[in-house]
Amino acid sequence: MKKHQFRPESLMMSYGYKPEWSEGAIKCPIFQTSTFVFQSAEEGKAFFELAYGLREKGEKEKPGLIYSRLNNPDLEILENRLSLWDGAEDCAVFESGMSAITTAMLEFLQPGDLLVYSNPVYGGTSHFIQHFLPKYGIDVLAFAPGTSKDQLIRMIEESGQADRLAMVYLETPANPTNDLISIKMCRELADHFGSAEHRVLVAVDNTYLGPLWQHPLKHGADLVLYSATKYIGGHSDVIAGAVLGSKELMERVKTLRTFLGNMAGPWTGWLLLRSLETLKIRMQRQASNAKKVVEFLAEHPKVEKVHYLGLLTPEDGEQYHIFKSQCESAGAMVSIEVQGGEAGAFQFLNNLKLVKLAVSLGSTESLAQHPATMTHAGLDPEEKLRYGITPNLVRLSVGVEHPDDIIYDLENALNAVEVEPAMV
Ligand SMILES: *Cc1c(COP(=O)(O)O)cnc(C)c1O
Repeated sequence: MKKHQFRPESLMMSYGYKPEWSEGAIKCPIFQTSTFVFQSAEEGKAFFELAYGLREKGEKEKPGLIYSRLNNPDLEILENRLSLWDGAEDCAVFESGMSAITTAMLEFLQPGDLLVYSNPVYGGTSHFIQHFLPKYGIDVLAFAPGTSKDQLIRMIEESGQADRLAMVYLETPANPTNDLISIKMCRELADHFGSAEHRVLVAVDNTYLGPLWQHPLKHGADLVLYSATKYIGGHSDVIAGAVLGSKELMERVKTLRTFLGNMAGPWTGWLLLRSLETLKIRMQRQASNAKKVVEFLAEHPKVEKVHYLGLLTPEDGEQYHIFKSQCESAGAMVSIEVQGGEAGAFQFLNNLKLVKLAVSLGSTESLAQHPATMTHAGLDPEEKLRYGITPNLVRLSVGVEHPDDIIYDLENALNAVEVEPAMV
């Protein structure tokens, strides 16, 4: 008989935890402890030998609990559960999305290396790449969505550093415009410059669609990164991050994490375990709400344009093709261009009641913000226009409320937008 394979959503309540570890408690408690008692000095020695890689792990042997900077049950169970969604061999959880991203970059980039990355990327990531990495002798090269593989090959060759390409880093869909980049194309690009001895890594920030609606490892990525603050946490009450990939790569990430000391704490681990139980139903509801919200927005006279993956058609060519082959849903991130420039966008934002005016995304409540003056305020004006971050652009993260209530709120706020006659 074929062994039944439980799906991730069915395993989120119990996988990797045994009630007998905790007096039969059905839920994994918070292991709020810094250190763990060894049963004997020999056991302590054996745990350390493994932790420091002094010998190979025995076949049945499990790494022992030593100290919460190295390992903690809440984190380990969380990492095992999070791995299921992306089909990853292993996962490392961090105290923020930024610490996940920066630790992965620091581990896999060396002075003299070249990092090629998609632009726009998350503001914090962009700052780290442009202002921190060059200080350590790492060269960086940005490309815009829509750049072809041939153009990228030429760009990298012309940089004179093709032999030092170490990582292709991308964020797709791009924030806040929802432009897509093909992960498969980035894999081919990395392989074009890499070799068996020198693998060029492909790393994907999957915060926008993951871990439900896009699985980068299946499309050739080596590393998947998350701000777990967003959909994974999902309740706007915790900051956390994660990196996923092969055992081999994750061992390196986890080792650097041990020495940087930027792992998540047990309380954060416990909150995320709780969040994971409802991850799928939240993300499904958010996606179905977004679809209804977009049907309304697309028809509203005060909305000039809607950026939403579900609106892509074969006429959009490459973008549509990437969407069909790489994404499993249109997700719940929507950007709209409101009539009346920045003033129109602000009138809209200031008149929302149910939808909250705040940055961040992926939470149970719907959120709206103004990228040009908020999340992307740090970009120079020319860059903003190049990436479509116009003064009238508003980004919406659709939550789990009743869709008619979200639409009611958006409609009231849009109707409050008063466009000067000269601007119509
Ligand atoms: C929020 C975010 C980050 C940073 O994560 P933090 O948890 O805030 O550190 C990175 N990438 C994307 C796409 C994000 O939205």
